[in-house]
Parts: sequence; structure tokens; C-alpha cells
Amino acid sequence: MAHGFDGRLLRRGDAGYEDARRATMWNAFVPDRFPDVIVQAATEDDAVRAVRLARDEGLRIGVRSGGHSWAGNHVRDGGMLLDVSALDDVTVDPAAMRATVQPGREAADLLRQLAAHDLFFPGGHCVGVCVGGYLLQGGFGWNGRVHGPACMSVEAIDVVTAAGELVRADPTQHADLYWAARGAGPGFFGVVTRFHVRVYPRPKVVANAVYLYPLDVLDEVFTWAAEIGPRVARTMELMCFLHRDADGEAEIAVTGPVLADSDEEADEVLAILETCPVRDRAKLALPNLRVTMEDLYAGSHAVYPDEHRYAVDNMWTHAPVSDLLPGLRAIAESLPPAPSHVLWMNWDPAGGPPREDMAFSVEDTTYLALYGVWDDPARDEEMVGWATDHMRAMAPQASGIQLADENLGRRPAKFVSDAHLARLDEIRAVYDPDGRFHPWMGRL
Ligand SMILES: Cc1cc2nc3c(=O)[nH]c(=O)nc-3n(C[C@H](O)[C@H](O)[C@H](O)COP(=O)(O)OP(=O)(O)OC[C@H]3O[C@@H](n4cnc5c(N)ncnc54)[C@H](O)[C@@H]3O)c2cc1C
Repeated sequence: MAHGFDGRLLRRGDAGYEDARRATMWNAFVPDRFPDVIVQAATEDDAVRAVRLARDEGLRIGVRSGGHSWAGNHVRDGGMLLDVSALDDVTVDPAAMRATVQPGREAADLLRQLAAHDLFFPGGHCVGVCVGGYLLQGGFGWNGRVHGPACMSVEAIDVVTAAGELVRADPTQHADLYWAARGAGPGFFGVVTRFHVRVYPRPKVVANAVYLYPLDVLDEVFTWAAEIGPRVARTMELMCFLHRDADGEAEIAVTGPVLADSDEEADEVLAILETCPVRDRAKLALPNLRVTMEDLYAGSHAVYPDEHRYAVDNMWTHAPVSDLLPGLRAIAESLPPAPSHVLWMNWDPAGGPPREDMAFSVEDTTYLALYGVWDDPARDEEMVGWATDHMRAMAPQASGIQLADENLGRRPAKFVSDAHLARLDEIRAVYDPDGRFHPWMGRL
């Protein structure tokens, strides 16, 4: 036990250092960046000790919870990589409709624990993603169109500040820090050791639909998806995926997971997917399926399999679909083999719950994200280029990006409003005057 840690401290060159560094990444495309020190915190006290050690040694800190940052934001050159994945406690207070969750807990696991109490939280769509990074960056999750970005359900955080003090931040104390924690994402300047969240009644029915369309009706399908967007029930997440099938043919998968309170409601909500003007061109149509949350997670996991190399980029947009079609066609033509894919999601924040005052401030009608997936390191540059260059080309149609799928190190883009970025800088100057915590890897 070095430096009084309950967990482990590894310096560059120590046996076990490289395994520990790699293990912090879910993406197999591990960056060539090497922290001087890795601390694997076993307890909240360890997180405090680590920050104090970093302060004493003049180290900058990158924090890791679930390691699902595609870019490996926590893996920086020099300084300390503080791994808090072992902090994964959950408490549930069903009477108060509240829960607390530590950053290393998978959001999917939190949902399972809540389900035992007939409760629910808008956790992310995939297994593995932990609440640490997910809640700080905003969080678009199951029924997120009903509840808003998941960070809106965070009522307080416990956080180790750059001064090495563990404080509670909420609307009444350290309110600026609380404001920043809801949207600063990979540029947050503190170590969150616990989130205090509001939870909701569990939707009783989980349904879905799947339609597969050939690529030659791309214009018709996306034009229709954009047109129905504002009329889609909040309980449905209309997602269109562009990908290649097993024979290498590009196709469009239209899906509509629904979390509703009755079978009748689910039927009603799904019916809109039958209105596609090229419905008769669907190669496959499964218009009304009853499924489980575990089925939904399995479906997402199939699209984002483990142990592959990933490069991603994204944009929010409210541009007319006619302006987006040329870009979508260009992406489709250059689409790498599956599991690489493109996600088009109907988000429509204007129709959702009023947004609270928080750092999170960039979102829009439609979300578009490219996920390049490959195995051969020789293709790294090509695949990074595929995701990044298409989003660069479509930047004139974008209103900003979502930090969930950020690629800021390669393509800086707007991720909060200008006013909120300025306020984040001011709050950082107060809470982290020496720049102890790494900021975002790029910004405009
Ligand atoms: C397969 C996959 C599916 C995804 N699906 C979704 C989805 O459905 N919805 C969605 O919104 N996002 C999704 N994401 C994006 C994901 O939410 C973000 O990458 C998120 O940051 C991951 O959180 P993490 O704790 O696992 O990652 P980490 O890589 O551990 O954290 C990301 C960054 O957040 C900061 N951070 C993490 N923990 C702390 C902490 N305790 N204190 C201070 N700062 C911290 C650090 O800067 C860190 O670099 C997905 C990502 C992947 C890889």
C-alpha cells in the first residue's frame, strides 16, 4: 500500500502500469498517451488522497469512471490518471423517489436495481457506460425525450475539488460547481464521487419496431423521418441507422423503441412508423414487438460490440432535411462494413420538458453521429478520417455537437453555448485556479 491508498498507485515503468492504462479504455483504439501515475482508487478517501498527491507533486489529473469515452479523454500525457471505477455503490429510497449512485456504476445496472422497486432512470442505451462520464456530459438515455438529458435529474453531487476537499454541490451550496457538473462532461474540474438523483415510475411496457429499407429510398426515408419527428410521441425514440448488411449492401434500419404505460399506448405510438411513403419497399418489417429492457440492451450491444477500434464524431442539427441529404448520401456511399454505422435520432428538445439552468446547453431537433468500427490498426487513419471528415463537411448544417460522442481532440466544435463556456471558464478559475484538471481536448 503506497502513499496510504486503499487501492493501487502505479508509476510509468512499474510492472502492471501498461495493463492498468489499457484497462481504463473500453475502445480498443487506445491512444498513445501516457500518464506519469495511475491511481486506482478503492474508496472515496482514496479519491481525496489522490487529488492531494497530485497537488503536492504538481500533476494534472484525468478522471476515469467507466472508460467509455471513445476518445480516451482521461488518458493524457503526463500527470495522473485517477481511476474511480471501483466506486460503484448504489442506494435507493423508493419512498422519496431518490437514489444515489457512485460514478463507477453502469447506468444499465442502476436501472436493474431501480426496476426491483418499480422505478426508472433515463440511463444510456448501452451496457458498460458508467454514470460518471454519462451524467457529467448530459446523457441521452431511455425515455430521455420524456425526462430530458439525464443530468437534469441530478439533484446534487459529492465532489473532490482541486483543493482536495470533499464537498456537496447542489442548488444551495457550491451552486456554481453543481451548475458546471451538469454538462461540462470531459472538461469537468473535480472528481465526482457520488450523484444524488431523482428517479421515476418504471414504464410498464417496452415495445419496439424494426423496418429495413434499401439505400435507393434514402431520400424518401429521411425526409419522412424528419417530417414526422415533431409528431412522434415523446415515449418513442425514433432512430434510423445506416449500415451495411451481411452482403455488404448499405441499408437503412428504422427503429422505434417505446417505453409506455400500457399496451394500447405502445400500439398507438408505434403506428406512426407505418406511415412511411415507401413502406412497401421495406425488405423487412416488424411493426410491433413486445420486448424487455434486456432485449433493448442486447440490441444496442450488437451495434456497439466490445473489443473493436472505434472512431466517432457527431452533430446536432435543425437544418432542413433537403440540406442534409447530400451529406447523408456521401456518408452512405463511403460507409465502411458493419458494425460501422450512422445514427439519426429524433430528439426534438422543444417538445420536451423545460430545460433547467445548467452548463448543458447545446442540443437540437436531430442528432446525427458516425461510428467507425474496425480491427486492423493499419486502418486507423482512414477510419478516423471517415467519421471526422464527414462531420467537418456537414459542419455548416450543424448547431453543435454532443459531448457523449465527442471528437474534440481532432475536430473542435461547439458543445455548450458561448455564454455557458464563458461561465464555465469563470467557475473553473475559482475552483481549479491552477488547472489541476485537464480541460476538454479541444474547443473553439
Ligand atoms: C458503447 C457506447 C455507448 C454509448 N451510449 C450512450 C448513450 O446511449 N447515451 C449517451 O449519452 N452516451 C452514450 N455513450 C457515451 C458515454 O455516455 C460517454 O462516453 C461517457 O462519458 C461515458 O462515461 P464513462 O464513465 O463510462 O466514461 P469515462 O471514459 O470514464 O469518462 C468520460 C470522461 O468523463 C469525465 N469523468 C468521468 N468520471 C468522472 C468523475 N467521477 N469525476 C469527474 N470527471 C469524470 C472524465 O473527463 C472522463 O474522461 C456511449 C459510449 C459508448 C462507448
